[in-house]
Amino acid sequence: MAKRTRIKDLLNTTEFNIPVTVMGWIRTFRNNQFLAINDGSCINNIQAVIDFTNTDEALLKRLTTGASVSVIGDLIESLGKGQRVEIKVTTLEILGDSDAEKFPLQPKKHSLEFLREIAHLRFRTNTFNAVFKIRHALAFAVHQFFNEKGFVYMHTPIITASDAEGAGEMFRVSTIDPDNIPRNEDGSINYKEDFFGKATNLTVSGQLEGELAAMAFGDVYTFGPTFRAENSNTTRHLAEFWMIEPEMAFYDLNDNMDLAEELLKYVIRYAIDNCAEELDFLKNRLLEEEKIKPQAERSELDLLTKLNFCLENNFERLTYTEAIQILRNSKPNQKKQFKYLIDSWGADLQSEHERYLVEKHFKKPVILTNYPAEIKSFYMRLNDPDDQGRTTVRAMDILFPGIGEIIGGSQREERLEKLEQRMDDLHIPKEEMSWYLDTRRFGSAPHAGFGLGFERLVLFVTGMTNIRDVIPFPRTPKNAEF
Ligand code: ATP
Ligand code: MN
Repeated sequence: MAKRTRIKDLLNTTEFNIPVTVMGWIRTFRNNQFLAINDGSCINNIQAVIDFTNTDEALLKRLTTGASVSVIGDLIESLGKGQRVEIKVTTLEILGDSDAEKFPLQPKKHSLEFLREIAHLRFRTNTFNAVFKIRHALAFAVHQFFNEKGFVYMHTPIITASDAEGAGEMFRVSTIDPDNIPRNEDGSINYKEDFFGKATNLTVSGQLEGELAAMAFGDVYTFGPTFRAENSNTTRHLAEFWMIEPEMAFYDLNDNMDLAEELLKYVIRYAIDNCAEELDFLKNRLLEEEKIKPQAERSELDLLTKLNFCLENNFERLTYTEAIQILRNSKPNQKKQFKYLIDSWGADLQSEHERYLVEKHFKKPVILTNYPAEIKSFYMRLNDPDDQGRTTVRAMDILFPGIGEIIGGSQREERLEKLEQRMDDLHIPKEEMSWYLDTRRFGSAPHAGFGLGFERLVLFVTGMTNIRDVIPFPRTPKNAEF
């Protein structure tokens, strides 16, 4: 094919009266002469002007929204208002027709729900162009951040046999014929007959494997898909999502928090510096959307102000115990407005509580630490009991405005005895985990890590409100379309 120039580059050029080739999809065709072409390289279209008096009538009729075209012409400074440059077309070719009657994306605003149902076309909208450009930039920034810090990108397995975490929330991986299930004498499924000779699942986290790597490489991270069969139909949960999980040897909980805060600020800054056009578009989109909301429900800050605010402020760090105190005395608790009232130490925090702390009380990102051991995972490092005999673990959750939990992490329990005791208490089979426990047997070391939900990060930076709209092909309960 002829070499094409990206529209993004043409719109920024200062070289005029040169022949150029553009390929893209028609957004609109006006007055039989003005073609707006978009090639996905940026939100903006380029205008191509056709000399209709010298163009075949039948060809003009085929210039419909959605059709793909190749145009060759001279790039000139635009005569009209609204654009700086345009193409004076000399050759026009239609690469793929688009039936105007059937094309579902008309040049008007569509609801995000509607667009989700035509996933192949939703990429062609301005909103999703901006969202997925930002998603790309954030992914790139994550790798750049860790690369600059000397971390090793480690690929942990997608299929795992470890069922230590999130039991019941895993997707089974099996090649057993459902119509002919091999059974043990007691009637249970005989997984020895299965592909791997044992029960296997899609991973819910790469952490345990990451810990093994950290105990050799020092600083590692994973960035891959994770799967949770949790039946939570919320705007913040996906059944398939991407997670960034760094794991660092010789880190304590404070080092862990510092790294997490630095990472979040770094990638947000990267998006601000590299996605100005996209963020500006999404900012205006949000303002437009908020106009129809009552004043009280509108956000106080616009998208860019919110992002910058996040960069300029230290995240508020406090313990679970301090948070419980604040929540217990809070207005919504006293007035019984919380669905789950906070009355005693030990309660698990619900998203209404997290949002109260972040959005109402501190009005900035918050890091909660030292949760009760009972409500956290077995691998988190035990603190000594406090003066009231309560046991906490060195966990940290980072809570973001509008999002709730964006990061969950901890310093890990590196002491074999304590770890085994915890596993016994929680009835986690140690034999199956001996590959993991070996790290505590041979040169154990203090270490820490966390998991950042990538889609929750994209949600925050784009200002979108439903997590389904920041992943190209969302998987949620009862939905695996496309
Ligand atoms: P939540 O309480 O919101 O369900 P979690 O405590 O189950 O989160 P972790 O197991 O700590 O989350 O996972 C680490 C991070 O992964 C979370 O902080 C969040 O950003 C992200 N995450 C967890 N579950 C999902 C999900 N179902 N969809 C998208 N992101 C998720
Ligand atoms: Mn969860």
